[in-house]
Amino acid sequence: MSEFILATRALKKAFGAHKVLDGVDISVPRGEVVGLLGPNGSGKSTMLNAISGFLKPDAGEVLLSGQPVTGLESHAIARKGLIRTFQLPSMPHRMTVRDVLTAGSRTGANLGSIFKRAQQESEIEDLLVTFKLDHVANQPASSLSGGQKKLLSIATALRAQPQVLCLDEPTAGVHPKLRNDIVDILTSINARGVTMVIVEHDMGFVRNLCKRCLVLDRGSIIADCPPEKLSEDSRVVEAYLGKAI
Ligand code: ADP
Ligand code: MG
Repeated sequence: MSEFILATRALKKAFGAHKVLDGVDISVPRGEVVGLLGPNGSGKSTMLNAISGFLKPDAGEVLLSGQPVTGLESHAIARKGLIRTFQLPSMPHRMTVRDVLTAGSRTGANLGSIFKRAQQESEIEDLLVTFKLDHVANQPASSLSGGQKKLLSIATALRAQPQVLCLDEPTAGVHPKLRNDIVDILTSINARGVTMVIVEHDMGFVRNLCKRCLVLDRGSIIADCPPEKLSEDSRVVEAYLGKAI
């Protein structure tokens, strides 16, 4: 088995003449939590889209446990254990928060026995409490705040029991008090062996969760180091135009 649960090799994606990913290589060992950083527009979401099957790369490979999944549809990649959340999650109209979580795909459909149904219901109630969504469980999901939608999308992703979880700006719009809760939740999920790639701007959050950060800029990875070393890297500082990272 490959030592890397997720890898990309020479991954390329251009929009017209704009080469957003220009041969990106990443290698993520099983169980690691990696921060994927970079200035706005540097291609972080494009990278997650290409990894998770929401966008077909122009060239290169995406490997899950050493097996190519390049160009597969997103649901096929999800079935292989890679689940991602979106920067701006959209919620279906007319479904309540609890409905969204209930529908959240569990990879092996699990609705058979009464016992399993009861187990599923208690799991959903646990997630609602953990993500502080229990008081809005019966509201339409589309009525939630941006931050609550983020929480619901992470909770829904967890129902699929991913091996690799890719999160696109999980704390943007989330109340600062809740950010620490998300750190705790993701830490405990990682302790159960889930590998994570986290696109995030909040460096406090990144330092709490990620031992390693990759920085994307102008089409390629310009740094691969622990978060506390980022500010010592002149290419990173330049990419962020001298703004504190
Ligand atoms: P980030 O997530 O790092 O902020 P994105 O991956 O969203 O950046 O976008 C990287 C670049 O690619 C931006 O210049 C963006 O405008 C462009 N881009 C992203 N998606 C598309 C698309 N579907 N069509 C055209 N350009 C796109
Ligand atoms: Mg983005």
